[in-house]
Amino acid sequence: MKKYDYLVVGAGLFGAVFAHEAHKQGKTCLVIDKRDHIGGNIYTKEIEGIQVHCYGAHIFHTSNERVWEYVNQFAQFNHFVNSPVAVYKDELYNLPFNMNTFHQLWGVQTPAQAKAIINKQISQMHIVNPKNLEEQALALVGKDVYEKLIEGYTRKQWGRPCKELPSFIIKRLPLRYTFDNNYFKDPHQGIPKKGYTHMIKKMLEGVQVVLHTDFFDNKEEWIAQADKIVYTGMIDEYFDYCYGPLEYRSLRFETEVLDMENYQGNAVVNYTDYEVPYTRIIEHKHFDFGTQKKTVITREYSQKWEKGKEPYYPVNDAANSELFGKYEELALKEPNVLFGGRLGMYRYMDMDKVIEAALDMAECELSYEGTKKDR
Ligand code: FAD
Ligand code: UDP
Repeated sequence: MKKYDYLVVGAGLFGAVFAHEAHKQGKTCLVIDKRDHIGGNIYTKEIEGIQVHCYGAHIFHTSNERVWEYVNQFAQFNHFVNSPVAVYKDELYNLPFNMNTFHQLWGVQTPAQAKAIINKQISQMHIVNPKNLEEQALALVGKDVYEKLIEGYTRKQWGRPCKELPSFIIKRLPLRYTFDNNYFKDPHQGIPKKGYTHMIKKMLEGVQVVLHTDFFDNKEEWIAQADKIVYTGMIDEYFDYCYGPLEYRSLRFETEVLDMENYQGNAVVNYTDYEVPYTRIIEHKHFDFGTQKKTVITREYSQKWEKGKEPYYPVNDAANSELFGKYEELALKEPNVLFGGRLGMYRYMDMDKVIEAALDMAECELSYEGTKKDR
């Protein structure tokens, strides 16, 4: 006799949304996670009265009304708007690339002046079909922005030269000719007032959760416990790396409590110079307009991934996409296992996209199960 309808491997955002939906429909569900907390990478922990984003800055933003309504059931969001600052040597720039940045770079005041400089720099490059990230960036923003704000940061972040990176990574960075420092264009943006962990806790209300539990320590036993598995860990690990490991990028976080009220005056400051070893410093209280006496900062270092380290970013270049395709074929042959989330789908997804994907999977899966029963 199977004990549960679903075993969800991973108490991150994907697993929590799926489990919530399954529980709502009367399914029995067990969620396991190898970490000692729920929330996966969006986990926040209170230190000195400040919600600390333990796995890097997480800003919720979406254009999807269904997703926005959905998350608002579990959390009240504040009005935080992400406006990062970039430090390049002794210079400071606003991000994303906008009229403030162009004024800081060249002293220009109008969009026409900024466009003239950028277009001149672009035309000097003679790039017709950008083949890699470097060419894509130069063709989009010209030499100055590329050299000061992209090249060093990207090389640190991905651990290889921009010439060896796919161009789509840079398409995430907006370029605009208005004085607008808002990083995102979505109509909805904010941070849950009580932190992300509280939001996940609400999603998981009524669902059984077991922490400190690695699926692979007892794979066969876990499989026998449920009719179906929703697996949100690494897809290559599920298949014992039989075609070789997929590539990921890992991170290292150094968190410090400082006996001062305000360290850097902004939630996110990027260090775009290659010589500075970290990519960014986040000051957590500014995500929530905090006025505490102390402050907590985190330096984020990018590092090579190897087994045992956390796989934060999938490296979606051509070679890895091909390898992932092979694992996807194996996944299709496992009718009782559903692969979801950033690691199960080997795809960089923002939180809103993860929620959308989990809701789609739940809708498809749970309505199918319902129809099966009615037959
Ligand atoms: P995860 O959060 O990784 O959850 C997977 C869970 O599965 C983990 O808890 C893991 O411990 C568990 N697990 C894995 N293998 C096993 C196993 N064998 N046994 C048991 N448990 C297992 N998105 C935004 O929208 N805005 C942002 O500002 C933003 N910033 C980000 C910054 C960084 C540095 C990173 C890395 C990501 C950022 N994201 C952001 C993306 C966001 O983190 C993801 O969309 C989201 O966390 C993905 O949820 P998930 O459930 O798919 O994966
Ligand atoms: N990037 C950059 N300079 C910056 C910030 C980002 O060149 O100051 C590039 C870098 O290649 C990075 C990509 O833009 O990988 C996406 O960055 P973003 O901060 O949007 O994504 P995140 O790292 O938070 O997922």
